[in-house]
Amino acid sequence: MNQYKKIFLKPKKDESLKRFHPWVFSGAISSLADNIEEGDVVEVYAHDKTFLGVGHYQIGTIAVRVLSFQQRELDTNFYEERLGDAYQMRNAINLVRDDNNTYRLVHGEGDMLAGLIIDIYAGLAVVQAHSIGMHMSRQMIAIALQRVYGESLHHIYYKSESTLPFKAPIDPQDSFLFGGEAGLDKIALENNLKFQIDWEKGQKTGFFVDQRENRSLLEAYSHGRSVLNMFCYTGGFSVYAMRGGAKEVMGVDSSAKAVMLADENIKLNFGDDSRYSSSSDDAFKFLRDMPNDAYDLIVLDPPAFAKHRGAVRNALQGYKKLNLAAFEKVAKGGIVFTFSCSQVISREQFRLAVFSAAAISGRSVKILHQLSQPADHPVNIYHPEGEYLKGLVLQVS
Ligand code: SAH
Repeated sequence: MNQYKKIFLKPKKDESLKRFHPWVFSGAISSLADNIEEGDVVEVYAHDKTFLGVGHYQIGTIAVRVLSFQQRELDTNFYEERLGDAYQMRNAINLVRDDNNTYRLVHGEGDMLAGLIIDIYAGLAVVQAHSIGMHMSRQMIAIALQRVYGESLHHIYYKSESTLPFKAPIDPQDSFLFGGEAGLDKIALENNLKFQIDWEKGQKTGFFVDQRENRSLLEAYSHGRSVLNMFCYTGGFSVYAMRGGAKEVMGVDSSAKAVMLADENIKLNFGDDSRYSSSSDDAFKFLRDMPNDAYDLIVLDPPAFAKHRGAVRNALQGYKKLNLAAFEKVAKGGIVFTFSCSQVISREQFRLAVFSAAAISGRSVKILHQLSQPADHPVNIYHPEGEYLKGLVLQVS
């Protein structure tokens, strides 16, 4: 067994680890092994020298991300076991299908792999490290992925340039870990809808997999409606609205590149369909300038307005302003799908921001659905911070 470096906690700082919360904050540490380096695998001990967990060390507020509460080696077998469990779960809930080859395989702490995200797109895995330890482990992860999937996995793309800490003593170049440009099919299927995924240049891993179920719900609401998909990115909601029989779909995003990708995805599924149009524009400006009653279904899926606690107040104002603009303009009896993916904003805070916007608009608003992230973005009950996506479907009279 590997001799890992050791970290000892201050007295009484072991409580959260004993409750299986996977983070060790830097303030909880009483002593560190000499010559410890970022990305090292470390064993964490309580002040009384009881073993607590093994994980990745990094300089910062979260000093250790624990990957196992058992004393074990974090080798390729470990990753194979964790990835195997993650795959089994997705398979058991019927996400792995010929007509649905797009899903999240690993959602960090939710899959007991803090610091790691893996999304699957039609036989291609996009691996994203959010910690230096995961960066160091990328080869083991690539081998483990191939063992779990066998021949059905033909490419592994590593994309961590934008997610690893800036001052990391490493060079996380985005590149293929397995397979290459040859034989690449960039089209993946989500619920039998085609999406071209730009994992190299696109945001996150190239697609927002987390909105799958909410898009399906939107599809069911779309028939005969005029849909405004605000913050459309690659057009996820637009494509579902089109299949749902929308009368008209308008996709808006401030990024011209995103709008282009969304247009391509519409074309891929529906060819030249006159029901669809798009605009590269700022959401607030577009909502302000559009006439009343132009749309009877509005989707608001903005980027995270708050990325850290200090930004919460302003972010709540942002959500309020955005939702108010939609409530003021949506047609009578219309529907608003509204979301927040800011992890630091609670469900309750988001609801309050939306409710106060509703009150200011003077419209009568009913909650029809309360939405969340899907099962391939699981929340570890010992790590409630993993819950980030919240949404409401509202009817506005
Ligand atoms: N709904 C999308 C994901 C949205 S991600 C999906 O299902 O895939 C958020 C998007 O908001 C990004 O594409 C970003 O370019 C866009 N964006 C950010 N600020 C914006 C603004 N002020 N106005 C319009 N779009 C904006």
